[in-house]
Amino acid sequence: MNPAYLEDASGYRGSAEKLVVAADENEVADVLREASRGGIPVTVVGAGTGVTGGRVAQGGWVLSVEKLARVEVQDGRAVVGPGALLRDLQAAAARTGQFYAPDPTETAASLGGTIATNASGSRSFRYGDTRRHVLRLRVALAGGRVMDVRRGEPVDFEVPALPVPPTTKHTAGYPLRPGMDWVDLFVGSEGTLGAVVEAEVRLLPAPKELLAGVVFFPDDEAAVDAVESWRPARPRMLEYIDEPSLGLLRGKFREIPAEARAAILVEDDREIDAWLDGWRIPARSSRPRGLLRRRRIASGFASSATRCRRR
Ligand SMILES: Cc1cc2nc3c(=O)[nH]c(=O)nc-3n(C[C@H](O)[C@H](O)[C@H](O)COP(=O)(O)OP(=O)(O)OC[C@H]3O[C@@H](n4cnc5c(N)ncnc54)[C@H](O)[C@@H]3O)c2cc1C
Repeated sequence: MNPAYLEDASGYRGSAEKLVVAADENEVADVLREASRGGIPVTVVGAGTGVTGGRVAQGGWVLSVEKLARVEVQDGRAVVGPGALLRDLQAAAARTGQFYAPDPTETAASLGGTIATNASGSRSFRYGDTRRHVLRLRVALAGGRVMDVRRGEPVDFEVPALPVPPTTKHTAGYPLRPGMDWVDLFVGSEGTLGAVVEAEVRLLPAPKELLAGVVFFPDDEAAVDAVESWRPARPRMLEYIDEPSLGLLRGKFREIPAEARAAILVEDDREIDAWLDGWRIPARSSRPRGLLRRRRIASGFASSATRCRRR
């Protein structure tokens, strides 16, 4: 067996008796049925970009859905196979002037993997996590039955009242709550309830212009303060860079100020003047002399027209 199927980006290594690369949905269902009858554990694998070892099998069979890679873009939505890569969906959506909001920043991840992990990422500040963008799912259950569930179809069992940690962000475990629907349950279930074999996801109109920049800070506290003050503006993208990461980047980017100990990448789709007027750069940040890059998007294609601006 190719050892790549027994690892992911976490560095964990696993083992398995057999690898099945399913040709289609029927084969996924058949494999799950057969394994269930034999009491054999099955680990569903996506593109292997996960950083937690979630797809690293500990015995049993490995089931890859990489061949189910259909991408069909429609107005406001796309129907995708779980093996389709995020970058393929984004490229297809861009050709129609649309985009898919979830961006865990690793574009080689599969749609199945991002749905199974309820991936969030750089654009979650405005758009939320993957769960919010899934409209319909087809899931092959352990016994081989395939369920097709649409957003709003409630689960058919009583949901126990479980305590939920009082954190702003919490993605571990099933999101059990009264009135939940099947889509809520399957998204984020990491293959424990079945294999996603098809998904319909929401697409949004692509912005005409994007403004991206980096703001540097003397410490983490100042960076957190900045995020708090920017919260009402709901920037399109926010990504925090810590001190060790800045250290790694310094060799490549001389623009990084020597005194910077943290940085935030920001992206917004408002006009540049509105952006600069509306954004208060906290006093404790370095002057926002970081790269401000404006990308024009013409007819849905990201063009190379960029310009740098120093303040
Ligand atoms: C550089 C980098 C940056 C990242 N940044 C973020 C971030 O900012 N926010 C964030 O949330 N995540 C982030 N991630 C994690 C990212 O969300 C996952 O790597 C990705 O979602 C996993 O997709 P995959 O196709 O590689 O799945 P895999 O790694 O192959 O599998 C991940 C899990 O999904 C299950 N699975 C896969 N396919 C299916 C399927 N069809 N049906 C059921 N279960 C399935 C697997 O069993 C496993 O449990 C980052 C990852 C990298 C490498």
